[in-house]
Amino acid sequence: LRLAAVDLGASRLRVGIFDDGRLVRYREVETPRSGGREVIAEAIISLIRSLAESRVEGVGIASIGPLDLESGWVINTPNNPLRSFPLRDPIARALDTEVVVANDCVASVWGEYILGSGRGLTDLGYVTISTGIGGGFIVGGRLLVGRRGNPHEVGHIVVEASSESRCGCGGLGHWEAIASGSSIPRTALRLAREWRGPRTRALEESLEGSITAKTLYSHARSGDPFALRVVDYLNRINAAGLASIIASYDPEAIFIGGSVYINNRDLFHPGIEEYLRQYSLFEPPPIREATFGDKEALYGALAIILDTPPELARFL
Ligand SMILES: [Zn+2]
Repeated sequence: LRLAAVDLGASRLRVGIFDDGRLVRYREVETPRSGGREVIAEAIISLIRSLAESRVEGVGIASIGPLDLESGWVINTPNNPLRSFPLRDPIARALDTEVVVANDCVASVWGEYILGSGRGLTDLGYVTISTGIGGGFIVGGRLLVGRRGNPHEVGHIVVEASSESRCGCGGLGHWEAIASGSSIPRTALRLAREWRGPRTRALEESLEGSITAKTLYSHARSGDPFALRVVDYLNRINAAGLASIIASYDPEAIFIGGSVYINNRDLFHPGIEEYLRQYSLFEPPPIREATFGDKEALYGALAIILDTPPELARFL
């Protein structure tokens, strides 16, 4: 069985060809950001055609949102200047095959459930901590997809009610506005202005605006006291977001992926577990590493076409 899996991200477009569940061909390119309305669909079609020697028997797409699953379009996305564009129908027509589309985090949690370490669980969550923060959830064995495919925007959970940090969405105190990769420099600057300790490299870089999520975590790893202070604060914020998820969905496990987490797992634990015990209503479930690392959404895309959940099949 030859299937194509597509991870359509804000910056990268990744395509994998799977033969009987095994990744045999893979390529990633920059996501097109200009051109006609079908430029992204055309890029996906030509990547699949060039990678697969024969016809694919289905295509799964894990996409940036928001989505309209009824029409198979991305609608008004803040993550690409094209804003709105079709995915499902032009690809299904060109390749003469079935195409299933889902939000990338929704697909990812289905991938954990069908193919990953979430097999055997009935209640699980997937959270990505990357440029942004998002999630996908399975409750009682059912994938939550919402009315049009855009449920549980967990990055916009309020984790700091008195925060002045404004989110890309316009709201204040949102998880993504404080702890996502793109927000970490601003959070570090705010904490640097309040810092009364020694002047360290991470502090200087935070004040001059050159710090990144990557350098912050790397300074913390070398013992920089200011960087450690920021990491501790971020662990508190991440635990607050996770505690809200636990209270909402009561999962048996939460899987975490996304580059900020994957590259700095050593500094997330045991901090988030300690804060979770203070914040969580229930005994906190295990916080586990995503099974497929930076290919989590790709395996999610495979899972939704390999074993399409009824919650997505109703839109086909
Ligand atoms: Zn927000």
